[in-house]
Amino acid sequence: MILKIDIEGLKKFYNFSHDLINLTEQALKDLKENFEFIEQIKSFNQLKVLNAFHLNKLSYTHLNKTDGYGYSDSGRDVIEKIFAKVFGCEDALVRIQFISGTQAIATMLFALLRPGDILLSICGKPYDTLQKVIGIKEGGHGNLIEYGIKYQEIDLKGNDFDFEKIETILKENSIKVVFIQRSRGYSVRSSISIEKLEKVIKFIKSISPQTFVVVDNCYGEFVEKLEPTEVGADLIAGSLIKNPGGTIASCGGYIAGKKELVEMCADRLNSPGMGKEVGPSLGFNKEILQGLLFSPHIVAESLKVAVFTSYIMEKLGYEVLPRFNEKRTDIIQTIVFKNEYELVRFCQGVQKGCPVDSNVLPEPWDMPGYSHKVIMAAGGFVQGTSLELSCDAPIRKPYAAYLQGSSSFEIGLVGVLHAIENIRRM
Ligand SMILES: *Cc1c(COP(=O)(O)O)cnc(C)c1O
Repeated sequence: MILKIDIEGLKKFYNFSHDLINLTEQALKDLKENFEFIEQIKSFNQLKVLNAFHLNKLSYTHLNKTDGYGYSDSGRDVIEKIFAKVFGCEDALVRIQFISGTQAIATMLFALLRPGDILLSICGKPYDTLQKVIGIKEGGHGNLIEYGIKYQEIDLKGNDFDFEKIETILKENSIKVVFIQRSRGYSVRSSISIEKLEKVIKFIKSISPQTFVVVDNCYGEFVEKLEPTEVGADLIAGSLIKNPGGTIASCGGYIAGKKELVEMCADRLNSPGMGKEVGPSLGFNKEILQGLLFSPHIVAESLKVAVFTSYIMEKLGYEVLPRFNEKRTDIIQTIVFKNEYELVRFCQGVQKGCPVDSNVLPEPWDMPGYSHKVIMAAGGFVQGTSLELSCDAPIRKPYAAYLQGSSSFEIGLVGVLHAIENIRRM
């Protein structure tokens, strides 16, 4: 199946250079098989999600709002059952009270770790915002280290885990929690495929069965057929303004996995003893459910944009990660630029393709939680969402931009072509 893009329409409504139009046409032909693969995964995941709605008998009344304590919120409860079914695990905590992924992941870590316990990250430094949560970067009050939790870190070895070091550390210490970040985040390492996750989790459990393995699943949902919880992860966490919110959820995050551990997370989020029983959905059930339902489709559109961008930027001489024909496990496309100027111009060009705020010029700024200036091109219906077209970059070497999202392929297409033109035209 060649993705049918109306080239005449592209020429009629936008004024891109001829060579870029030709390159676009070539890309669509050459990427036929890549797009077919993406469509197949989408189809599987769409059926998986739909089936979870059916098995849990979602009904119209579940969309009703609760407020106050949120007791007897049957809609919220069914949402959590649906998420658990989709992620192939026992239970889930899906709450609008999570601001974003960072809060969901922090909740998961604080829920499992006690003073004296060791947290071990096996894919190097976690995502920027989590470094303050752990306490390896200053500025986070009441971080894990302040509470007497110890932190150790093992870097990836090449594109895989360092099994030797993992074995040594697991044998020498009692490790309470192993932390894995599926997506590369703001680093130029590879993302971790489900296959690699499965292998390392089996390895960890064979040496230390009592160790909990938790996964930062941000950007990974529905990119492959399986999720980390289906290959042995004890808990996963992520953001509803990324993949599983399907561009519809306004806010929120989730934690999913073993029932007992999810219960501990609920006690941490709400307060000890309150568990999952409280937490008003405040009228957001519809958004969360509709977003989840659309998510496999929008993740697929985002993947097409990522693959297309990878192809076209490589043709234009840039280093890209992953390459267009590499297997993917998240929706992020990294493009490495030669200097700060190109990086900033590219991001500013992407902004021109966004459906909202296309006329705004993003500038690098000191974003809370990040240690370098960051430029963020984003213009969607939800602030900071990164399943709608967005492109962000910390202003530091190696001048890499991270592009993700697009609720339909055309939006990403126009954004990326604008971005390329923006580098060329002063
Ligand atoms: C986005 C993200 C997070 C959490 O960030 P929020 O902006 O708080 O949702 C954590 N880890 C990774 C890899 C991410 O991409």
